[in-house]
Amino acid sequence: MTGAAAGQVWAHVGQAFSETEYDVVVIGAGRMGAACALYLRELMPGSRLLLVEQGGLPNEDGATILAAGVWTAQDIPAAASAPSWKAKADWTRAQLAAQDSIQFQSRPLLSLHTENGPRRVPTASALAAHPGSLALLDADQLPFAEPDPAAATYRPGALAAAQAGAAVRAGADLMLNTQAHLIPGGVRLDRLTVTNTHQIVTHETRPVRARFVVVAAGAEGPELLEQGLGLHTTHARAYRQTPRLNAPSDLSDLSPVLRVGGLTLRPQNGGYTLFPQIHHRDPHGYVPTGGRLTGVPVGLRRETLEDLVGLMDNLPVLGTEALETGRSLADVPGAWLALPEGRADAPPVYQRLLPEVALLLGGPLADTLGLAVAFDLAAHSAGQSGRPWEDPIV
Ligand code: ADP
Repeated sequence: MTGAAAGQVWAHVGQAFSETEYDVVVIGAGRMGAACALYLRELMPGSRLLLVEQGGLPNEDGATILAAGVWTAQDIPAAASAPSWKAKADWTRAQLAAQDSIQFQSRPLLSLHTENGPRRVPTASALAAHPGSLALLDADQLPFAEPDPAAATYRPGALAAAQAGAAVRAGADLMLNTQAHLIPGGVRLDRLTVTNTHQIVTHETRPVRARFVVVAAGAEGPELLEQGLGLHTTHARAYRQTPRLNAPSDLSDLSPVLRVGGLTLRPQNGGYTLFPQIHHRDPHGYVPTGGRLTGVPVGLRRETLEDLVGLMDNLPVLGTEALETGRSLADVPGAWLALPEGRADAPPVYQRLLPEVALLLGGPLADTLGLAVAFDLAAHSAGQSGRPWEDPIV
């Protein structure tokens, strides 16, 4: 097999773009779009593919860059919903483990509980080797821990960048700083540029015909379908903030990921990043705004503040200055997350809405299942019937 020639990259409007037709256009170079573009190039090497990203880099903004990057068996949907989720999660983990440059590390995860239950062990013994982690919580309040020894952490943003790069090396074209819109028969590409007064404006607009369009625009995806093609879906979105907790996690001995009442504490850069539970979709038109803590404006939204305040008895560190609440919204990192089917616990999904248009959504469980669902869409489009996770290589 000879390697395909690398694709072209248009990074800025100074580079002339005169293409008028592609076999496949993928909108969005977050982790779902980047993975799907790569798998499509591998499975359909004869077709011309364009990956379009509105940011200046793959996943410059969006959910991927702020995702926890925690693979855990505890996020695999119950076998009753679809028995293959475990196989898809295992396949995703194997793909992640084989990736360079994403800081993939096996790292245990512990879900902490007030009550005993199946697969639970005493918190104190589970954390005996991690006194730093133990100091975060009140082990009398949370005496039981369910460990996931197979859990792992990685950097989703680095994954998207690596896979977008691999897609280009495999022959995909990549267009950055370009906002795509759906039109019948293809896409309209708005090439963006920044004026010297720092305004983002459309420099030029190009229609491109496409035989097949994959909408992998994260939380924006359902709206693109609605605005461009009048297609309605049941998907939704939620704004998730990821505040920093400056309590020391061990840089050397791999502190475990902790979960308490839906809150995930992910060790990162010597401290923790917090990933609050998502409760429900945000209503149409919701604009994120900071709440108030004892009368003082902070950058955390009200729902998140209520959750964290509710957990302070179990995690006293949340009541200290170690928690960065910010003064306004801009101080706390946050991103819109797609909620497949409008649910916070639904796995990633792809949906063929028209013969020539598919939607690909990652959402809250993309860390554990995203790559397999992106592959599924690519294999389906390539007309392949078997899937690698159905036939594990021993
Ligand atoms: P996912 O986890 O599904 O990949 P992300 O939010 O990380 O979700 O990725 C979506 C990507 O799509 C982001 O990088 C975002 O900048 C990009 N995007 C969103 N809307 C458009 C659009 N209209 N045109 C091009 N890129 C878009």
